[in-house]
Amino acid sequence: MAKKGDMLYAWTNDSALAKKAECGGAVTELLKYALESKTVDAVLAVTRGFDLYDAVPVLVTNPKDLDACAGSLHCGTLLLSKLVMEYVPKMAGKKLGMVVKGCDMMGMLELAKRKLVNLDDIVMVGVNCGGSVSPVAARRMIKEKFGVDPDKVVKEEIDKGQFIIEFEGGHKGISMDELEDAGYGRRSNCRRCKVKVPRQADLACGNWGVIGDKAGKATFVEVCSDKGAKLLDGAVKAKKLTTEPANPKGIETRAKVENAMFKLGDKWRKRDFEALRSNLWETIAKETGRCMKCGACIAHCPVCVERKDKYDQPVLMVRPGFIPADPMFHLRRFAHISDSCINCGQCEECCPCEIPLALFSHAIRTEADKWYEPKLGKSAYSN
Ligand SMILES: Cc1cc2nc3c(=O)[nH]c(=O)nc-3n(C[C@H](O)[C@H](O)[C@H](O)COP(=O)(O)OP(=O)(O)OC[C@H]3O[C@@H](n4cnc5c(N)ncnc54)[C@H](O)[C@@H]3O)c2cc1C
Repeated sequence: MAKKGDMLYAWTNDSALAKKAECGGAVTELLKYALESKTVDAVLAVTRGFDLYDAVPVLVTNPKDLDACAGSLHCGTLLLSKLVMEYVPKMAGKKLGMVVKGCDMMGMLELAKRKLVNLDDIVMVGVNCGGSVSPVAARRMIKEKFGVDPDKVVKEEIDKGQFIIEFEGGHKGISMDELEDAGYGRRSNCRRCKVKVPRQADLACGNWGVIGDKAGKATFVEVCSDKGAKLLDGAVKAKKLTTEPANPKGIETRAKVENAMFKLGDKWRKRDFEALRSNLWETIAKETGRCMKCGACIAHCPVCVERKDKYDQPVLMVRPGFIPADPMFHLRRFAHISDSCINCGQCEECCPCEIPLALFSHAIRTEADKWYEPKLGKSAYSN
């Protein structure tokens, strides 16, 4: 019987799924079993859309349809937690399974704190995340740094610190450090992120720490809750999944990689926040001066619940008729959300004017955490 704290290697017993999955296919198999066993009524997952730079959310009720979601889309920058809000009213009394990266998981916790979702009705299967690359930036990086036509790429992956592409006629990997020093690579919020293993989900699944003959063929699963243990046991008992204890050396390697990622996160925080601090007000005025008041930053923020007027239109708290928006709009917004900013980067990702909004709210959140941490112990999200 699995229990909270267990660390296992897991792999699907379905050979077709094993081929399509990113690692051992455990995530897809667990979500399929959750539907088959009626543990959940629907699953919110991600599938490939127009091309491999296009990650699309899907609500699945037929377990077979989950096979199409297997595999990781590293250029998929969407956040599932805010989307859940769309389904909650229609799901009264029903249970939802979902795949969560660290930011999705933090978004769910923020929604739960606001009593907008009930986590008892949700099974979160977490995937570790070292960061994602914006689709437009990925295309530019592949063209300019890899010298490859982005439309000829058939697979991308991030492995052992490299961004690797497979394309018609070959494959090529370049180290993330080299790419990021040259201004390419992961989104800036992902570089600063230190929630790499989503341990507040029910299970945390990844590839770090899978070594030996299981490397690339199994998923590393950390059991994070009783709910997660029950789901895993059920899938094993139903002969959908095989597990074995993780190799102790693999556990050590995983911890080392996670620690290295924390250090990298600290490096980027230092670099980004010091640059901001040195020129704070000018930077805010210059950057937010491009705002055209579209409201995307509010609509996609998992910690900001949009207020609607009597015509069901978003209340943007900005004076009508003025473009760009009054800088006070952004300052008020930062004050409103920054104490619980999860650094998911959606405000920045969805901003058509490319204002580095996540940088401002993450800097404020991190500064506030520093003040509270010595009094309250480490912040839930600081690592
Ligand atoms: C952007 C990203 C970065 C990652 N970085 C790391 C890492 O640094 N270290 C590590 O150990 N593991 C990382 N992972 C997790 C790893 O790639 C595998 O997802 C995990 O090992 C599970 O493997 P599996 O074969 O069991 O998953 P599969 O059975 O192939 O299932 C994968 C699941 O991931 C979901 N998914 C795919 N793309 C996205 C996306 N962009 N956002 C949300 N969900 C998505 C799919 O819906 C599917 O349910 C990352 C995953 C993603 C999506």
